[in-house]
Amino acid sequence: MNNGTVYSDTGKTRDQQFRPDAIAPYTSTLMKVTRIQRYQLSYPIERPYANSCVWNRTRDVAVIAVTTDRGITGWGEGSRLPQTSVLAQHVLGRDPFDVAAMGRAAQTGGCPPAAWSGVDIALYDLMGQAVGRPVHQLLGGAVRDRIAVYASGLFLDDARQPTGALAQEAGAYAAAGFPAVKMKIGFGARIDAARVAAVRAAIGPDVLLAVDANCAYDAATAIASVRAVEEHDVYWYEEPVPPTEIQAYHQIQAAAPMQLAGGEALEGLGAFRDLVSERCLAIVQPDISIAGGFSACQKIAALAEAHGVRTLPHMWGSAIRLAATLQWQAVLPDGPGLFPEPSLFEFDMTENALRTDLAKEPFQQQGGTVAVPDAPGLGLEVNLKVLEQYTVATDVVQA
Ligand SMILES: [Mg+2]
Repeated sequence: MNNGTVYSDTGKTRDQQFRPDAIAPYTSTLMKVTRIQRYQLSYPIERPYANSCVWNRTRDVAVIAVTTDRGITGWGEGSRLPQTSVLAQHVLGRDPFDVAAMGRAAQTGGCPPAAWSGVDIALYDLMGQAVGRPVHQLLGGAVRDRIAVYASGLFLDDARQPTGALAQEAGAYAAAGFPAVKMKIGFGARIDAARVAAVRAAIGPDVLLAVDANCAYDAATAIASVRAVEEHDVYWYEEPVPPTEIQAYHQIQAAAPMQLAGGEALEGLGAFRDLVSERCLAIVQPDISIAGGFSACQKIAALAEAHGVRTLPHMWGSAIRLAATLQWQAVLPDGPGLFPEPSLFEFDMTENALRTDLAKEPFQQQGGTVAVPDAPGLGLEVNLKVLEQYTVATDVVQA
């Protein structure tokens, strides 16, 4: 085709079609952000519990509400939120459909991904509400309408040695129909072995069992723990060491018969690059409210897919993070084959009213699965009374 050929659909020549001054600037705006509010929420735990590194005495989350000139409010949850003014400069007056462009500007402006996560999630909630579609459709469409769940609990209460309460809790999860459970270890190889043996005995041979050491170890002590628990058919071993210790992951994976998992605290696409591209673990676990929201998590999942690493999101927060994680996990691809490994949703079983009460309709497991919301946006309605009840600080910026 020469440059003088006229295109039949536009009636323009090739030169006219592609000359920059022939292209009209993009001006279509569906709505504009007029207000952004941050809520710091804290829930006091009645019976504190520990993993290998920290006692949980409160559950704290940072919620973001973004409102537009159409009167729609989108909800998000981030981590380590700065003053709202830091976020507002990238959002006020903009159309939520420019979410990726806003994210780029925020990143260039030094806004950490963990803080931006809340805004990105709220903007996706707004886009979905504006067009009357669930977020999973904005991401390309769900490949599952229900997701298999694993009960995430079995923390330390007082004694490091396994107690009757640990076995009782594990047995209750199996009886409730969970196809998988995750327990805390990282207390030394001998105690890890005793705790895992107690839980395996309580859940029987058919329930998948994952263990989580929360970065308690170095390579040598992690390998001792791996060898101590392997006879109990462990499905995955999570965070034996911090996710930045790539060489240690290689060493541990070489010694471990089970799959390694990790990455829940990493922020931004770049932070996942080496962990994933070096294939030193089998499962990567981005947290949507830490890694950078839907925009970053979709890129991280693509990076993982290209390297043959499975993505199973981490979920530890309020009902807003839970809803966002469901929307995202709904679109994550299964592996090849007729019988792929299950996509397991982290169903936090610990005491936390911010997860159980902040949505007007709580998310519940049924028959070992949880439904992906089909309502517009994130598919949840925030209970404003509960939001107010647990808010310890808030600030707002308006256009
Ligand atoms: Mg973990």
